[in-house]
Amino acid sequence: MVSERLAALSPSETLAMSQKSNELKAQGIDVINLSVGEPDFFTPDAIKVAAQKAVEDNFSFYSPVPGYLSLRNAIVGKLKAENGLDYKADQIVCSNGAKQSVCNVLLSIIGPGDEVIVPAPYWVSYVEMVKLAAGTNVIVTADITQDFKITPAQLEAAITPKTKALILCSPSNPTGSVYSRTELRKMADVLANYPNITIISDEIYEHINYIGKHESIAQFKNVRDRVVIINGVSKAYAMTGYRLGWMAGPQWLASACNKLQGQYTSGPSNIAQKAAEAAYIGSQECVETMRQAFQKRRDLILTLARDIQGFQVNEPQGAFYLFPDASYYIGKTYYVNGDMFNGKKINDSADLAMFLLEEGHVATVGGKAFGAPNCLRFSYATSEKLLTEAMKRVKATLAKLV
Ligand code: PMP
Ligand code: GLU
Repeated sequence: MVSERLAALSPSETLAMSQKSNELKAQGIDVINLSVGEPDFFTPDAIKVAAQKAVEDNFSFYSPVPGYLSLRNAIVGKLKAENGLDYKADQIVCSNGAKQSVCNVLLSIIGPGDEVIVPAPYWVSYVEMVKLAAGTNVIVTADITQDFKITPAQLEAAITPKTKALILCSPSNPTGSVYSRTELRKMADVLANYPNITIISDEIYEHINYIGKHESIAQFKNVRDRVVIINGVSKAYAMTGYRLGWMAGPQWLASACNKLQGQYTSGPSNIAQKAAEAAYIGSQECVETMRQAFQKRRDLILTLARDIQGFQVNEPQGAFYLFPDASYYIGKTYYVNGDMFNGKKINDSADLAMFLLEEGHVATVGGKAFGAPNCLRFSYATSEKLLTEAMKRVKATLAKLV
């Protein structure tokens, strides 16, 4: 029997949809996978060479738990050069992906009775990690009419004496929304009055931004000592499988994550660490090349989605997700030649995603898993050719619903 803690967890919907799509592909079905958020580019050559060299140079022994000092120094350099932020190497802990970094932070600070404010739509794993830490999710919802961004007044209204943390994600997975500098400053001004709240700022999509310079809430001095930045190499450098992410935060929190990780997983893979170090200290041209490709794809999918009846679409300003509101299709049914096909009624966005997968052979993720039950998430980190074909299929498949 699994523990109560585990029984309360939901499996990751993003990974589940991707797996389902791969299973159909293995059966010979031509599925286009727009479910998982993963760049389709290969890791840049210079980074691959660094990984190969690490193998040749016998980087085969345990690394320090928070990662090699040389990698943490490269991250310190990145934070200074790109974000204008000063950190010391011992304020940084590298982990097996940003996913583990978020979980390390939550397990380090959250316990029974503690509340975590999670703006919705949210990335699927946040709420499950809060549950794992025995904390309480306090969901603050922002729908498409407010570009999926919460207001400072909504934030303030959600704060209670039990609030321990806030999780911000900008650019956002799943909406692509980006908080402006002014919006972040106003948020910081609210939080400045609540010194017990730790601000977890997930900036994994920092480099996939279509509106200009990345803005971090860590730049504001009135909250700076309580911000923990989460980032990593998965998205910016097309290195999802390397599994290398990091946190940069106050010293006490870095020490806590270090202690936890030391008992739990140890330092992340040496090969990935050396590759990540090369990514940070090498030329950043590859990042800009991929960003431009994502922007072209964003423009394309936006045009195609706006042409689909019933979709309400916001313009994503970052990341590589489109998150249309598909309420129009909820409650509809699929008929073939006047007969209800397999009794299929679309009760929610998870049904809609399943319908699109089974009937249209396009994998997406229902918004329910992101706290937005009427939306659908499309990851557009794939070629323009596949995106065009996928949206053609989506349009034709949705037209079958009445
Ligand atoms: N945060 C967000 C918002 C994400 O979309 C992802 C992607 N899985 C992660 C964190 C974790 O990234 P990784 O573990 O691959 O570094
Ligand atoms: N962040 C990606 C996504 O949301 C990868 C899958 C995951 O880690 O959940 O699809």
